[in-house]
Amino acid sequence: MKSEYDVLVVGGGPGGAMAAKAAVEAGLSACIIEKRPAIGTPVRCAEGVGEELLTEFIDPDPRWIAAKIDGARIIAPDGGELNLAPDMAGNEVGYVLDRKIFDRELVWKAAEAGADVFVKARAVDAIVEDGLVRGAIVEYMGSRKEVRAMVTIAADGVESKFARWCGIDTAIPLAELETCAQYLMTDIDIDPGLTVFYLGNEVAPEGYVWVFPKGERRANVGIGISGKKSGNGHRARDYLDTFVRRHFPEGKIIELIVGGVSVCRPLPCTVANGLIMVGDAARLSDPITGGGIYNAMYTGNLAGKVAADCIGKGDVNREALAVYDRTWRESTMGKAIERNYKIKEYFITLDDEKLNMLINSAKKIKMDKFSTLTLVRELIQHNPKMLVELQALKKSLG
Ligand SMILES: Cc1cc2nc3c(=O)[nH]c(=O)nc-3n(C[C@H](O)[C@H](O)[C@H](O)COP(=O)(O)OP(=O)(O)OC[C@H]3O[C@@H](n4cnc5c(N)ncnc54)[C@H](O)[C@@H]3O)c2cc1C
Repeated sequence: MKSEYDVLVVGGGPGGAMAAKAAVEAGLSACIIEKRPAIGTPVRCAEGVGEELLTEFIDPDPRWIAAKIDGARIIAPDGGELNLAPDMAGNEVGYVLDRKIFDRELVWKAAEAGADVFVKARAVDAIVEDGLVRGAIVEYMGSRKEVRAMVTIAADGVESKFARWCGIDTAIPLAELETCAQYLMTDIDIDPGLTVFYLGNEVAPEGYVWVFPKGERRANVGIGISGKKSGNGHRARDYLDTFVRRHFPEGKIIELIVGGVSVCRPLPCTVANGLIMVGDAARLSDPITGGGIYNAMYTGNLAGKVAADCIGKGDVNREALAVYDRTWRESTMGKAIERNYKIKEYFITLDDEKLNMLINSAKKIKMDKFSTLTLVRELIQHNPKMLVELQALKKSLG
């Protein structure tokens, strides 16, 4: 590990890998440090990603695709089913990945392009001089060393501490942190081409249960519930066990993971002097689905390019790096996060009766092409009892 790079990337997830690759492809020196001993493990993800989104950055490869998904199904609390064909389901169809291999592939691509990569290398503090982030103190091979950089990219995920060390408030309110548990299950009866989402306050308060196939009789079966609904005897895993006993009593659990997903708004500003925050570290997962693989890839790639541009111009101050913040906020991804945040805030107010009404009425809606606003407009038509609240939602969406 050298003591100086143009760009230092903290975290070897999809955001960090894309950032380092973009930086070296733009002619910079870059280094990824990853605290875990292996890239991609343990997996803390249901591994679903939209086809169109993924292929923006990488050609699908059977080595890291566990299942191809052609549709999605939403199950209402009363058992009513809403089936979404690919054009309606949007990002909910595409692929279920094998992230152990996928994340490695992304880091390999960054390494092949010229980035240095170090595992079991943990940032333990930021180097900040005169208000400018100048790199990190890194624990590696039993000793601590300074690794300096013109731009540091915090890609350290939902548990991110790096930005906090730089003086930025990154706290996630408990109510906006979904606590998640997931089993990888085998020997279960599923449709291998369909992702299924179960809603309801009994099933998953302020969240949902997902079944994401990973082959013929194998799936990620997981749950996210609001942090504020979690407590002794009613944690995410308790709800998941109840669900599994009911739906897959004969299934075998071969892996358990737990983790958190932020469903808050993104950080108010995702750059500082000498620092760019990407992916989960910037709180950029989708507030409805919790999905963040694409968002991390998109912002990582953008961050690497902006870092190169600013270093080239000799200005890495917050104002210069702010083009990164503006660009993602104005992007389709940024707009979707803002819109979905408002929808999520509305959805968590719904009791099961209203969820049933909405899901069952959505079955009757015919749309040529999916659009959130058209959907809300149609839901207003079909749910006169919820007229006022749905109109307020429509207004907030603009
Ligand atoms: C249960 C669950 C299910 C999910 N399901 C989906 C899904 O189906 N689809 C989807 O799109 N998204 C899903 N997500 C979200 C998705 O996993 C994340 O949004 C995505 O991984 C974000 O990528 P990232 O690169 O920002 O962060 P991460 O992938 O979290 O990578 C951050 C990396 O930084 C490393 N790191 C942290 N601190 C340090 C440090 N101090 N020094 C060095 N390295 C450090 C970590 O070890 C980690 O490898 C899910 C999340 C959870 C918890």
